[in-house]
Amino acid sequence: MAICDLCMAQAKKTSSGKPHESLEKIDEVRIFPGKKPRGFEEQDYQCQKCQAKFTQSTNKNDLAWTLWQG
Ligand SMILES: [Zn+2]
Repeated sequence: MAICDLCMAQAKKTSSGKPHESLEKIDEVRIFPGKKPRGFEEQDYQCQKCQAKFTQSTNKNDLAWTLWQG
C-alpha cells in the first residue's frame, strides 16, 4: 500500500515533531531506563489512512520517527 503524504512528511520530522492527525498510538510506550542521566522512550503509531507504522524514539542515537514499510 502506498504511503500517504502525511506519513512521507512524518518520516522527515525531528524529535520535536508531533504525530500527524491520522497517526494513532498502537501500543503502550516502552521505557528504557538506560544509563544516567536519562534513558529513552519508544512509542508505536499506525496511520489510519495508509496503515503505515512508525516508531517514535527519544533515543538520540535513533531516528526520531522511524517508518516501517510493509
Ligand atoms: Zn499515512
